[in-house]
Amino acid sequence: MQRSDVLIVGAGIMGVSTAYALSRAGRNVTLLEQFRLGHDRGSSHGKSRIFRFSYPDTSYVEMGIESLALWRELEEEGGVHILEQAGGFDVGAGIESNAAALEACGASAEIITGRQAAARWPLVRFPDEGPVLFSPDSGWTDAELAVRTFTDLARARGSVLNEGRRIVEIAPSDEGVDIHSLDGSWSADVVVVTAGAWVRKLVGPLGIDVPVHVTRESPVFFRQAGHAPTLVEWGGELLRYALPDPDHGLKAAEHMVGPIVDPDDDGGADPASIERVTKWVSERFPSADPAPVEAQTCFYTTTDDERFILERHGRVVVGSPCSGHGFKFAPLIGRRLAVLAEEAL
Ligand SMILES: Cc1cc2nc3c(=O)[nH]c(=O)nc-3n(C[C@H](O)[C@H](O)[C@H](O)COP(=O)(O)OP(=O)(O)OC[C@H]3O[C@@H](n4cnc5c(N)ncnc54)[C@H](O)[C@@H]3O)c2cc1C
Repeated sequence: MQRSDVLIVGAGIMGVSTAYALSRAGRNVTLLEQFRLGHDRGSSHGKSRIFRFSYPDTSYVEMGIESLALWRELEEEGGVHILEQAGGFDVGAGIESNAAALEACGASAEIITGRQAAARWPLVRFPDEGPVLFSPDSGWTDAELAVRTFTDLARARGSVLNEGRRIVEIAPSDEGVDIHSLDGSWSADVVVVTAGAWVRKLVGPLGIDVPVHVTRESPVFFRQAGHAPTLVEWGGELLRYALPDPDHGLKAAEHMVGPIVDPDDDGGADPASIERVTKWVSERFPSADPAPVEAQTCFYTTTDDERFILERHGRVVVGSPCSGHGFKFAPLIGRRLAVLAEEAL
């Protein structure tokens, strides 16, 4: 049986950033992925994800600041540009808490009127009433390029990626941990499970409870000339967001409204959500083509308080950092999962 220092199950953004962090520490890493790298059946696919410091909670602002430095480090090492910081807006209920958290962490922020914002950013039609929070550090990451860059750099340091291998069993022992697919087996000192929406299926049989549920979300894409800044509209129960999309111009969606699903069940984007998002885009982005170009599906793996689960259970490290907002922190989360794995080495 092939032996490594660390096995990683799942080559989404969290698995590949962990492999990158461990490979930099000289560890011998093997990644197992049930589909192909960059596939569109999980949570890390597509061309863009919002990057922001702007949260009502200072712990996320601090994580954002730390992650920014790590994204820049990755870009330098890979010779690529992943994170575009063109600024971003928060509008709606509670943005004062975001402004206070940003200020508390020494991050730049500006509260302006909708009229002032519209004058500076004519692609967006802001709400007439109420303040607008501008955060110059906001922007978006090229998700596909991020996954590829972490993987390429980890491989350059000897990490191995096995695609098309669905792990069906994890068997920890005193000597290490063995994992099995239907057609192969691997062993190591420790396994890191970054299996996204499938995490409960994999670690549940080990008696490890990961309190998450899975929903199928429906991002929608629109043609728009020029890139508008990112926009997050907080509205009590409903949060909507929009960001640039390199292919079509604009990506928009509702946050956490999808049906609870089994990730192995097929299913399409939600027509009702597409309709609501299309109406919202016609209000906020008047220059965008009102007819959606396409809609995709993507899984949220969500905890009740939207916090990330990063835990070690003996020789099994579990990383479930999603709740629809984990991508921006990926380089930092990869490091934290690597530290947990190192504890068992
Ligand atoms: C619509 C949408 C919009 C989002 N927008 C943002 C945003 O703007 N900003 C932000 O910061 N975050 C955002 N997120 C969240 C972010 O994309 C996720 O937190 C992140 O991609 C999770 O990565 P992951 O590696 O945990 O999961 P995944 O990418 O799903 O990776 C898990 C991998 O494990 C593999 N796997 C599972 N089981 C097995 C098995 N048994 N054997 C082998 N392989 C297995 C899967 O095939 C998959 O490739 C968004 C998410 C969605 C869905």
